[in-house]
Amino acid sequence: MPGLPKPSANPVQFVQLAERMGKTRFPSLSPVTESFGKTEALGGIRAAWIKNVFSSGWKGPDLPLFRTRALVLRVHYLSDTDKLVTFYTERFGKVKAVAKGARRIKSRYGASLEPLTLVSLIYFGKEHQALFRVNQCDIVEYHHEIRDSLDTFFYALYFIELLDSLTAEGHSDAKLFSFVSEALEILSPDHNPELLCRFYELQMLSLLGYKPRLEQCVKCRQFPRSHWVGFSYNSQGIICAPCLDGVSVETRIQLGTLQYLKRLLTLDLKRWSRLKIPKDTEQELEQFTHRLILARLGRELKSYPLLMQMTQNT
Ligand SMILES: [Zn+2]
Repeated sequence: MPGLPKPSANPVQFVQLAERMGKTRFPSLSPVTESFGKTEALGGIRAAWIKNVFSSGWKGPDLPLFRTRALVLRVHYLSDTDKLVTFYTERFGKVKAVAKGARRIKSRYGASLEPLTLVSLIYFGKEHQALFRVNQCDIVEYHHEIRDSLDTFFYALYFIELLDSLTAEGHSDAKLFSFVSEALEILSPDHNPELLCRFYELQMLSLLGYKPRLEQCVKCRQFPRSHWVGFSYNSQGIICAPCLDGVSVETRIQLGTLQYLKRLLTLDLKRWSRLKIPKDTEQELEQFTHRLILARLGRELKSYPLLMQMTQNT
């Protein structure tokens, strides 16, 4: 960019120029620019922030900084010192970013890069590129209560793996972010985690545009009147008994179970727990939502068999 000094020459000039150009998103921009000149009186936090930005490899306004809340979904070791972290961010959807030095014992990231953690994240890089760089990551909610119980821990791992598997990078969805964050907030061993899991699966599919069609038969468009209906995972909808004449069907659903499924799709996070479901219907619901997800993803998630094993042992 012509006319701009090198970042190392005077970082604050960069901040001010970028602010005027309106091209770059800076965290706490005004306090930083206001106080940077007063070196003597400069608070340690702001000074550290400026130092952090430039030491993490940021190259000035050509590489914008992004600030958002985010959930840590997955962490891979990239080298002896670095980690590759997949986040689901509130403002920019799914993002992958390298955290330099995160594997060092005295890493400045601390425990903020562990899966499930809700963080306040600053990262940088060119928009639409595959890999970004983490600049700063601070814990907002570590979810100690979820981690304290194996039961909720496995449910939560499944929740975030499902989110990771059903979403692609580069699509922001603040509604989905807040749904998942709130579901993790209310996940507790005392509040029917199994039913929350069914609710979560169906709501997530619905939010992403994969809501199963449960009202009218996908073939004749009539409302079913028999005691049971078939379900086609290919067409993601119900098939009424007359339309199934002579056709083999993968799944039969009792009308009662169908009503519970519809209720789970229409309730919200404040009211889902009011639903009381008989034990044998719970099992039917589990098999149904699991097959629905398998049909969508075409594969089994890693966390699901573990979750099933764990819940059957308790
Ligand atoms: Zn029909």
